[in-house]
Amino acid sequence: MGIGTRLAQLGRTSEAHFGFINTPVYRGSTVLFKTLDDLQNQRARYTYGTAGTPTVESLESAWTALTGAAGTALAPSGLGAVALALLTALRSGDHLLVPDSVYLPTRLLCANLLERFGIETTYYDPLLGAGLEALIRPNTSTVFLESPGSQSFEVQDVPSITALARRRGLTTIIDNTWATPLYFPAHQHGCDLAVEAGTKYLGGHADILLGLVSAGERLWPALQRTYQSLAMVPGAEDCYLALRGMRTLHIRLKEAETRGLQMAGWLRAQPQVMTVLHPAFPTCPGHEFWARDFKGSTGVFSIILRPGFTREDLARMLDHMRIFAMGYSWGGFESLIIPFDCSAYRTATVWNPGGLALRVQIGLEDLEDLQADLRAGLDRLVSGG
Ligand SMILES: *Cc1c(COP(=O)(O)O)cnc(C)c1O
Repeated sequence: MGIGTRLAQLGRTSEAHFGFINTPVYRGSTVLFKTLDDLQNQRARYTYGTAGTPTVESLESAWTALTGAAGTALAPSGLGAVALALLTALRSGDHLLVPDSVYLPTRLLCANLLERFGIETTYYDPLLGAGLEALIRPNTSTVFLESPGSQSFEVQDVPSITALARRRGLTTIIDNTWATPLYFPAHQHGCDLAVEAGTKYLGGHADILLGLVSAGERLWPALQRTYQSLAMVPGAEDCYLALRGMRTLHIRLKEAETRGLQMAGWLRAQPQVMTVLHPAFPTCPGHEFWARDFKGSTGVFSIILRPGFTREDLARMLDHMRIFAMGYSWGGFESLIIPFDCSAYRTATVWNPGGLALRVQIGLEDLEDLQADLRAGLDRLVSGG
């Protein structure tokens, strides 16, 4: 069946809810047992709030079917899902490989938490494919991937890395937030664990925090155990909104793709813009892997401005935008723009793009309005105060 049909049907248990189409928001810690026998043998469909509710299970089962995984565990944020995946794969004394383009809070998690538990991280050039083999040590257990990279958008050669990992007995975890399972089926490309920040496109309205980890057969029991040990359960309302978001995910992503491509093409033609870092554009490092492996692109990308602009020029541009707002996260209905600079924390590669860098998220506003806002902003850049 096609993706629209599947998204309309996944995770629904209407017959258990008097025919109502959507699984309601179940709130609850305690679940009551009828008899001593039921209590002592945990004979009940649900046993406790952290062990699952109909709302949580609807989302988990829908995501498992959508990703083609063996199972899914949820977390109360995307970063929580990254932590859940890493804690599932790693043990004390292990060595972990992480791309230099990784989402910054993931890097901080490795430095501030994993390090304390005796797990050492080495960062690698995200454009390395099978060449990653040279970095494998006797205690290397896990390769983390994020494709495209946060802010800088390097696309990774995922199939080469997962093939290498399989050959060397390593676990692979991918942060697949940008593409979602619709545009990059991570498990089909050999990833053991796939993380999605549901906060972004799945929620789609900048009003929830949620993370999902899907696991292939080999890692599913370990993921389940780690989830049960931590009991980091997302809020019932957020699970409900994620399920609602899932019904229109394909339509919103298609729109994000079309608009992202149009705006990236328009920006490329502006005299103040030097480069567009959009995976579907040949100027994006690793574009060939996007073209080979991805089924689409979404509405978040970066641009590099021509050299010579100062922070003051940038403030003149950004402080007076009328539609594009400054704020973290993306994947909602609203357009966002933020400056970024990866140079301070990269260790395996050098970030020196030659001009100021901006990440843009294209929302659902009218394209002519977005272009007018950006054109006025780019004009303020050069207006000299
Ligand atoms: C936003 C994001 C996260 C974290 O999601 P939160 O819900 O904000 O914690 C993780 N990975 C990537 C790639 C993200 O963009």
